Amino acid sequence: MNGPFFQANSDRRTTTIETADGLAAEWHSSQNLATVRLSKRQIIHTSGPVPMSQYPNARFILSANALSQFPPDQGREVAVAGRSNAGKSSAINVIVNQRQFARTSKTPGRTQLVNFFELAQGRRLVDLPGYGYAKVSDKVRVHWGQLLQGYFESRESLTGLLLVVDIRRRLTDFDQRMFNFADAVSVPVHVLLTKTDKLKRGQAATALLEVRKALGGRASVQLFSALKRDGVAEAREALEGLFGG
Ligand code: GDP
Repeated sequence: MNGPFFQANSDRRTTTIETADGLAAEWHSSQNLATVRLSKRQIIHTSGPVPMSQYPNARFILSANALSQFPPDQGREVAVAGRSNAGKSSAINVIVNQRQFARTSKTPGRTQLVNFFELAQGRRLVDLPGYGYAKVSDKVRVHWGQLLQGYFESRESLTGLLLVVDIRRRLTDFDQRMFNFADAVSVPVHVLLTKTDKLKRGQAATALLEVRKALGGRASVQLFSALKRDGVAEAREALEGLFGG
């Protein structure tokens, strides 16, 4: 399929998505990725007006599952990656200060797509598919591995990677892999150790030291809690840094 797979239109009350051709979608069932049937125009969530601070004009651009469907490789782009359920969507929402902003990635069919958001003109946030699904077939795993590798290797506008890690899990193999992709092309990485509210303060501090040591100065690391909104200012500053200031 050419062009973006989904297009979304948002206003402050609703977000709607529809397929590029306006028809019901059956998403890559041939590749066993997922099967999604959408009505021609389906409301996937509603939310009331939300306060927006840093990026008042932030908006969803498109979802894609192939490099050819990505938006033009211009401007600056920060990718956000994390193992499935690490707390990536929650972190994005809190950092961008829009409730529900990345929530649509929870919608079946978008969970395994690359979701592009424009935060401000020429600045995009790229929500990479949450990886680590036990149920995903080897074929799908290979597809995503190749797509992500291709993305890191070819994307000129990629200026940074925000890696969201559940503090209780520390760095998993998946995180290491993403880190290596970024490292190989000298893209700076900032690690959010999230869900710190699940640990005692001392345990969180120890985890921070351990992860920092494991990364050996190759990435910046911080404690974060979307629930308690801890570390938000630091994360926003880090995001700006990843965009190149
Ligand atoms: P994603 O799959 O990585 O996008 O993860 P989500 O953001 O959807 O979060 C997965 C689960 O973890 C949800 O139940 C969230 O409510 C929960 N969660 C996310 N961030 C936090 C956090 O900072 N603290 C706590 N206690 N739970 C969190």
